[in-house]
Amino acid sequence: MKEKGNNKMQDNLYDITIIGGGPVGMFAGFYAGLRNLKVQLIESLPELGGQLNAIYPEKTILDVAGFTGVTGKQLVEKLADQLATMSVDVKAGQAVEGLEKDADSFLIKTNQSTTRSKTVLIATGGGSFEPRKLAVPEIEQFEKQNVVYSIQNLADFKGQTVIVAGGGNSAVDNALLLESVAKQVYLIHRRSEFRGMEHMVDTLNQSTVKLVTPYLIKKISAQDDQVLVTAKKMRTTDDTIDILADKILVNYGFISSNKVSKGWELDLDESHHMFNVDTEMATSVPGVYAVGDSATYEGKDTLIATGFGEVPLAINQIAKRLYPDRHEPIHSTSIKR
Ligand SMILES: Cc1cc2nc3c(=O)[nH]c(=O)nc-3n(C[C@H](O)[C@H](O)[C@H](O)COP(=O)(O)OP(=O)(O)OC[C@H]3O[C@@H](n4cnc5c(N)ncnc54)[C@H](O)[C@@H]3O)c2cc1C
Repeated sequence: MKEKGNNKMQDNLYDITIIGGGPVGMFAGFYAGLRNLKVQLIESLPELGGQLNAIYPEKTILDVAGFTGVTGKQLVEKLADQLATMSVDVKAGQAVEGLEKDADSFLIKTNQSTTRSKTVLIATGGGSFEPRKLAVPEIEQFEKQNVVYSIQNLADFKGQTVIVAGGGNSAVDNALLLESVAKQVYLIHRRSEFRGMEHMVDTLNQSTVKLVTPYLIKKISAQDDQVLVTAKKMRTTDDTIDILADKILVNYGFISSNKVSKGWELDLDESHHMFNVDTEMATSVPGVYAVGDSATYEGKDTLIATGFGEVPLAINQIAKRLYPDRHEPIHSTSIKR
């Protein structure tokens, strides 16, 4: 019995546990497989893909190498295809709640299982995230049907009158994206200027999107299947405008939380809720590394391309730490020579 138990524990011992299955965690899973490491990838959401899948699946990403443009959904599909070429234990729908040092390994506790791992790679992004809500009375009764926080399927907006609320990159990008399918798009923003990329703001100004600025949505009321939206002009008392719409897309940003990982006793950048790492992507705890939006250092940009670049640094250090006698990685051109 005892021996069986020990074997079971050995089965549960991974070289590396990747916490977080966003784009960076997914690429890390593939790369760890490439280095022949025994790897598990744990993701709290039911599906992999992180922010790309949950927040902006239909947005076109322009700044990932090798693509002139790729939607969030398409990039996640490509990453999933790449990940599937390696033997990686993917566990979606399980949040890592506990991370404890145990003699020569770590105990990884999720809401469903406990496993052991020689090293840990944190790729939790900004932690769990949820959209900043539209602050109007009884908002809950409109959510899902008329009020949404992301474009999950562009076709759902076909022929509709859509109000986009917000003034940042996402609001501008989404208003332009919706213009291609909607009957009419309104963009309501409390300031007169938009904070999107300059090129996108120029495109917006030449588009058919009706700009309603500086206004803020104050009230929504049901009108059959539609909603009557009342927005008030900023710094006035009774200058309001009413728009009848099928949907409101709220792009007020996201509130992220890494409450869980605060208990992991790692050196956190308190202001950004990120983990401080060195040039090898190592955190303050030996054997624990961090990449992607969850890792920070001087000059860090929280971009997909940055996170992808950090992955080989971390995984190759982990491989060296676990198997110092193995060859250092050589790239494909060296192999061909
Ligand atoms: C609207 C918007 C548009 C953007 N556009 C671009 C763009 O055009 N180009 C660009 O480069 N970047 C863009 N970004 C930023 C980009 O999405 C992030 O840099 C990228 O998602 C970071 O990837 P990641 O894997 O590090 O983290 P995330 O994508 O945040 O993934 C982290 C994953 O970890 C999971 N997780 C968290 N805690 C736990 C836990 N305890 N246990 C298990 N799993 C956990 C989360 O559920 C999540 O799936 C955009 C971001 C937003 C919000």
